[in-house]
Amino acid sequence: MALIVQKYGGSSVADADSIKRVAKRIAEAKRAGDDVAVVVSAMGDTTDELIDLAQQVTPLPPSREMDILLTAGERISMSLLAMAISNLGVEAQSFTGQQAGVITDEVHGKARIIDVSPSRIRAALDAGAVAIVAGFQGVTQHTNDVTTLGRGGSDTTAVALAAALGADVCEIYTDVDGVFTADPRIVPSARKIDRISYDEMLEMAASGAKVLMLRCVEYARRYRVPVHVRSSFSSHTGTLVMDPEGAAVMEQPIISGVAHDRSEAKITIVDVPDVPGKAARIFEVVAASGANLDMIVQNVSVAATGRTDISFTLPADDGSIAIAALTEHQPDIGYTSLQYDDTIGKLSLIGAGMKSHPGVSARLFAALSNAGINIEMISTSEIRISVVTRADQLDDAVRVVHTAFELDSDEDQAVVYGGTGR
Ligand code: ASP
Ligand code: MG
Repeated sequence: MALIVQKYGGSSVADADSIKRVAKRIAEAKRAGDDVAVVVSAMGDTTDELIDLAQQVTPLPPSREMDILLTAGERISMSLLAMAISNLGVEAQSFTGQQAGVITDEVHGKARIIDVSPSRIRAALDAGAVAIVAGFQGVTQHTNDVTTLGRGGSDTTAVALAAALGADVCEIYTDVDGVFTADPRIVPSARKIDRISYDEMLEMAASGAKVLMLRCVEYARRYRVPVHVRSSFSSHTGTLVMDPEGAAVMEQPIISGVAHDRSEAKITIVDVPDVPGKAARIFEVVAASGANLDMIVQNVSVAATGRTDISFTLPADDGSIAIAALTEHQPDIGYTSLQYDDTIGKLSLIGAGMKSHPGVSARLFAALSNAGINIEMISTSEIRISVVTRADQLDDAVRVVHTAFELDSDEDQAVVYGGTGR
C-alpha cells in the first residue's frame, strides 16, 4: 500500500462534470488500496475572475484582503470535490490550508511555506478517508493571517504536503500529458519527456515553462520527492521528475527542451559613467526596490565619452518599482536616460548534456539567424542558454530552435486537453 498525493489543476476541475470525473479517478486510486491525499486548485479561471472583481472595486486592493479573497477559489473546489467523492461511496474530507497545517512567511501574494504539520490530514488518512486540501494557501506563523503562495502555487502545496507526509509519489495532474520538449500550445510536434532531472526541471520552470511552478520544483529537489506530471484527461504515463542517480538507466539527452517566457521587460540605463562602483550602485538601488533581476548586459564603453549603457531584464510586474527607484537615484548614478521595453521575449534551451557537448550555442545562434531573428541579450548557466528576442518573434524562435535540435516528434501530435492558457 502506497501513500499518494495527487494534485488537480484548475482546468481539471473547471465545472461540475470535471469535478465528478476527477472524483472517479480519486475513488479508483483509493479503492485500489492506496492512501490518497489530494490538493486542488480553484475551478477553471476562478482566480483570474476574483482578481478582476477586486480590480473593479479598487485599483489597489490591500494584499491581506486579496489573499483572503483568492483562497476562496480553492475552498469552493475542495468542498465540491469532497462531496463528489462521498457520492461515490468513498469517504472524503476537505481541509483549508490552515487546517492542513501549512505555515508560511508573511509575504502576501507570494508567501513561502515554512513548515507543514499535517496532523489532521494524517488522522483523516488513518481513518480511511481521502483528504482533500485547498492548494495555494497557508497561514502566517505568528498572526494566523491567510496567505497565498503566488500563481500556480497549488503545485507547491502538493509537493510540500507529499514531503511532510513522506508520500511515495506526488502526482501532478494537468491538462497536458506531461512535460514536453516545448510548450505544446506553440509547438504541436513537441515530444513528451519521460524522465527529467530536478536540475533540468528547475531550469525549465525558471525559464518560463508553466507546467510546474518553480518553487514546487525547488521543494521537490530539496526533499527528494518524486514528482509524476500527467494528464487528468488520459491514463497515459506522464513525466517523472527525479534524481538522475535514482535511475541509472536514465539516458541523458543533450537537450531536454526549449522554454519561453513572455513576462519579462528590459530596462536600459543610458550613458552610465564607466567608473568603478556604478554597477554596484545601480543594482543596490534595484535590489532595494524589491525588483528581481534576470539577465544583465553592459556594453563596451565609448572611449570618447567614457560612458556605457547597462541593460537588464526583470519580471514586467516589477518594472514600475525598478524605474521609480532608478529615477529617484539618477543624480547619484549620473546616467542620462532610461529606456523601458516590455515587448521582449526570452527563449531558453535546457539540457544537462550541453555541459559536455561543444557547439550547442553555435547551433542555437545559427538556427535563429537563419530565421532572421535578432538576438538582443544572451545568458548561460551550466545547463541552459537563454536569449532575448522581440516578443513577436518568440513563437517562431521556439519552433526553429526546437527543430534545429531535432526535438520534433514524428508520432502523434501533443494534445492539449483543456485550459485557456490564461
Ligand atoms: N488558483 C491559483 C492560480 O490560478 C493557484 C493554482 O492554480 O495553483 O494561480
Ligand atoms: Mg489555476
